Amino acid sequence: MKMNSLLILAGDGIGPEVMDEVLRVIEWLGDRRGIRFDVVEDLVGGAAYDVHGIPLHDDTLEKARKADAILLGAAGGPKYDNLEFGLKPERGLLKLRKELDLYANLRPAICFDALSGFSSLKPEIVSGLNIMIVRELTSGVYFGEPRGITPDNEGGRIGVNTQRYTTNEIRRVARTAFELARRRDNRVCSMEKANVMESGVLWREEVQWVGDNEFPDVELSHMYADAGGMQLVRWPKQFDVIVTDNLFGDMLSDVAAMLSGSLGMLPSASLGAPSADGCPKALYEPVHGSAPDIAGKGIANPCAAILSFAMALRYSFDRGDEADRIEVAVERTLSQGIRTADLLQVKGAKPASTRQVGDSVIGNLDESV
Ligand code: NAD
Repeated sequence: MKMNSLLILAGDGIGPEVMDEVLRVIEWLGDRRGIRFDVVEDLVGGAAYDVHGIPLHDDTLEKARKADAILLGAAGGPKYDNLEFGLKPERGLLKLRKELDLYANLRPAICFDALSGFSSLKPEIVSGLNIMIVRELTSGVYFGEPRGITPDNEGGRIGVNTQRYTTNEIRRVARTAFELARRRDNRVCSMEKANVMESGVLWREEVQWVGDNEFPDVELSHMYADAGGMQLVRWPKQFDVIVTDNLFGDMLSDVAAMLSGSLGMLPSASLGAPSADGCPKALYEPVHGSAPDIAGKGIANPCAAILSFAMALRYSFDRGDEADRIEVAVERTLSQGIRTADLLQVKGAKPASTRQVGDSVIGNLDESV
């Protein structure tokens, strides 16, 4: 039987440190649950630039095309700040997303009870929160033409970007959101600005079309994105899956991130079109960057990376049961007080190292079987 394949791109800064803990979880799944992966490791970002002079080698891209899923650590760092734009580490990641056409960005906003005191909102508003934001990632105003800065007739300048969406671009990301909702609480809320933007009118109509014609069993509602932002901080638990465009999704997913506490806790996925076997091209990565200020010290929080692997199990490998198991092991670790420095509130409390958090997650996984 063909083994599921994983391409691991640990990248820069704390990327390799947090990925080491993910590799231990992958090994644990093989040893204790008989779920084995064909794991290939390669370079991306600054690490790839140091060896190849470019942030993503063609061979690595080829491996990414062949892999069932890609796990990425982080790319970037001050060492590479003065490189020309096209060679910067982050371009490696952008190229991966573009070449694999990963158009749906999934950002869960989950607040573990043990961390409800970390949100900027009151614990009762965020405790137990579990929502999913689906952001369109490859089109919209960040890519639309015309764009640029040109002189005007009065000695000043004009800055132009174009918000542009096609039927196909909207329908495919809407489908991702509806599919996700079916595995959750069966509700989708679509957000745009149909009151002031034609692209918003089209967005609303096309999402409605997909809902009516393909997912009549899923509850669909619409909200203006500004009102959606307000509702996200007023009563976030009213949502299940939110689907929105690239620009609004960029902002709304960052707002939602703050609901759940630390950057070190946030996983993400970027999915493309489903292939013949129904499995989408997919890249999983923590939301945080390479954290150069703490890199090399062994103190980074590995939870976001471990939870990103849990997302891979759920969305690429149809192993929601094992994803649940890993999420529970992470939550237990936090409630046992084993936390890296970013999750410590009490002055004088001793932070755990990256490895100690990994040890505890593995220990909790052992206890779960
Ligand atoms: P960052 O996410 O790397 O760090 C922001 C702050 O959060 C830092 O104080 C850092 O120590 C802390 N932090 C982040 N992750 C943490 C973790 N797992 N545990 C504990 N603390 C953590 O963002 P930045 O400082 O703006 O960017 C640093 C570099 O990372 C830049 O080169 C940037 O371009 C790059 N970056 C890459 C990605 C990516 O690879 N997807 C995303 C964001 C930034």
